[in-house]
Amino acid sequence: MSEKIDISIVVPLYNEEGNVLNLHKKILDACNPLGETFEIIFVDDGSSDKTVEECKQCSPLTFIQLRKNFGQTAAFDAGFKQARGDKIITMDGDLQNDPADIPKLLEKMREGFDVVSGWRFDRKDSFSKKFFSRTADKLRKILLKDSIHDSGCSLKVYSADALKTIDLFGEMHRFIPALLESDGYTVGEVKVSHYARTVGVTKYNWKRSVKGFVDMIMIWFWRKYASRPLHFFGGGGIIFIFSGSAILFWMAVEKIFYNASISERIWPLMGVFLIMLGVQFFVFGFLADITIKNYYKSRERMNYSIKVVEMIG
Ligand code: UDP
Ligand code: MG
Repeated sequence: MSEKIDISIVVPLYNEEGNVLNLHKKILDACNPLGETFEIIFVDDGSSDKTVEECKQCSPLTFIQLRKNFGQTAAFDAGFKQARGDKIITMDGDLQNDPADIPKLLEKMREGFDVVSGWRFDRKDSFSKKFFSRTADKLRKILLKDSIHDSGCSLKVYSADALKTIDLFGEMHRFIPALLESDGYTVGEVKVSHYARTVGVTKYNWKRSVKGFVDMIMIWFWRKYASRPLHFFGGGGIIFIFSGSAILFWMAVEKIFYNASISERIWPLMGVFLIMLGVQFFVFGFLADITIKNYYKSRERMNYSIKVVEMIG
């Protein structure tokens, strides 16, 4: 079962009855003419409708069923771990993405990219969804500085080698290109079609924006400070300790030289508070540093990523 093939197509499905058979057929239609070996992996993310039954009617198919609804990122991860392809294609299971765009993505990939992401330039979603998504895209560009327009589009191709270096958690599948780019992998983009959902309902609401925002901050931190958390916490700690000390120093000067009354003023308290905060930041930083060293060690990985090692001559 573990021999290599060219392409794995991974699709997460949560209550997508009515879409599954059609999707499977469209993927076959798009992939059969490619002349490459491929597998289709459907991951049922704890559906309570007929999704599972419909999956079982699809052939050929690698079917993974999660025990309950763990979320789209978990479903993708389960699919990735099963995938045998050199390239891994992801897409949504609600037919909002079009499998017919697959050849376009693969062609772009051949230009030498490690990841090619779809860009739903003519997106068919509700106004509020587009609004939230575009705001998130702008913020993402500022914080994470990735080079794509539309990270939320599930239709993407990854080189399996690149993808397998990433740990997925939370709702992070949207940020995989940003994470890979920060490790030096190259990310390209092509415009793809997008359709309104015709069967079933969306599984997301405003809560996703909140989670997405927190994930984004986490990734920003990870990209910038993963290998040196003490710089972040220690830097903050120094600022707090310095401000607190300056305030206390000034209070002391007022008290000693001007005989000012300071007992009913807020500043002495502020000074002590800031110094304590600063010390805590330092302690946090030390702990984070130890944790991160263990993290890299346990995974036998470093905070850099090697492209080639070659013996010449
Ligand atoms: N999905 C999933 N688990 C979830 C939520 C969604 O596997 O907990 C799948 C869903 O079946 C679909 C894809 O993720 O294939 C995108 O979901 P949806 O279409 O609801 O998101 P939207 O397009 O509205 O952003
Ligand atoms: Mg959708």
